[in-house]
Amino acid sequence: MSPTEPSPTIQGLANSITAFYPRIDDIATIHVDGPTAHVVTYGKPTGPTVAEYPAGAELPGFNKPGETAIRAIVGKNAYDIYKLVESNRLLRLRINASALLPADEISPGYFVGLSLDDIKLFTSGANEASRLSAATSLSASNPGQPLHLTLGRRFSLGELMPPRLIAPLMLGLAALVWLVVGYRNARQERHRQERRAALLEQEARLAHAGRVNALGEMASGIAHELAQPVAALLSQSQAARRALVIQDNDILLQALDANVREAKRAGDILGRMRAYISGAKARIEMVALADALTDAVRLVEADLVQRSIALNIAISDRSCMVAIDVISFQQVIHNLIRNAVEALFGRPEPRINLWTGSEGQDVIIAVADNGPGIDVAALDRIFEPFFTTKPDGMGLGLPLCARLIEKMNGTIEARNDDGGCFIIRLPSGGAQ
Ligand code: ADP
Repeated sequence: MSPTEPSPTIQGLANSITAFYPRIDDIATIHVDGPTAHVVTYGKPTGPTVAEYPAGAELPGFNKPGETAIRAIVGKNAYDIYKLVESNRLLRLRINASALLPADEISPGYFVGLSLDDIKLFTSGANEASRLSAATSLSASNPGQPLHLTLGRRFSLGELMPPRLIAPLMLGLAALVWLVVGYRNARQERHRQERRAALLEQEARLAHAGRVNALGEMASGIAHELAQPVAALLSQSQAARRALVIQDNDILLQALDANVREAKRAGDILGRMRAYISGAKARIEMVALADALTDAVRLVEADLVQRSIALNIAISDRSCMVAIDVISFQQVIHNLIRNAVEALFGRPEPRINLWTGSEGQDVIIAVADNGPGIDVAALDRIFEPFFTTKPDGMGLGLPLCARLIEKMNGTIEARNDDGGCFIIRLPSGGAQ
């Protein structure tokens, strides 16, 4: 080192060095004089430059001559290598980091960078900060210059998702969506079926309850219909017993005949009920209306006489034929007369009018009484099962009448005339 600086010799030497090693920017000699560092920089084409700065802040600390130190220069793409030559003299090489890596040799899409002690010296090529990039870092094996080299590659969207991969990917995605939707649909279908099964079960339970109710209704109907013949059997048996005591064979015979009739009637009613329950068709036969009515009336005559109820029968055409189930028909007439009897209880001059007539092709049979009449509010409901206005009534007589007449292709309606009046319409079967 020349004692007199700036030295043209050193400048010449530095020029040669920087020409030979383009990565060396310049060479400086530093003379530390107390707190001040005198710096002469060589190697620039413009010649040596002289500068001064505070030594403590700017220079690395050394213990003994021969030691080296390295420092990055922030923001200048360069770093300095210092060597302590004597106790107060240093030599400094300034290295251009970007010249270490030839930028023109970096392939498109790649980037390289150099850093020293975590300070970035230099970056070139594609933007390494891009989201779609991958980089790796190497440490230089030279402990005197602990540089880190970063090599990276930036990827374009097309490279990351090439169309030949995208198509199968989309297909796979579509298959996945299809599977998920299919699974969801299958689950919904299963839930639907479970709900349907639960509904069916509920429906079956309701149907069962309906059958049980219907059975109850039928049982009540049977009890209702049998009450009358059984009562008649009882009274006729008592009459027979009395006749035996007084040894009146005529009365005995009459009572026993009546018993036989009532027992047959009870049997017939049970038969009808069985047919009704099983839904069997009515046994329709062509009979003279007058005969069917006379038979029906015979069943109640004695009772009416006993209760002092007048019975007026007016048959318009004795040759009129009707297609009816005789037992069912008698049951209906019997029921209507019994209702009339109950309505007439306690009434002055009680009377029942039974008359027949015709209206177009229909035969009309009416059972009317001069009782209080049918409650107007109840008129619409009296054919409903279990509808009754009587404390001990069951409300099954009229629904049963309607059902039986329907089976004979007829209709029945109720209205108020002098009292209650029931009109049956049956298809005419012509004349005898
Ligand atoms: P129940 O005789 O057990 O009440 P029905 O079905 O035979 O059952 O009759 C239903 C209702 O119709 C009776 O409770 C009564 O209110 C009314 N009804 C039936 N016949 C007559 C009538 N001749 N006069 C007045 N009301 C009647």
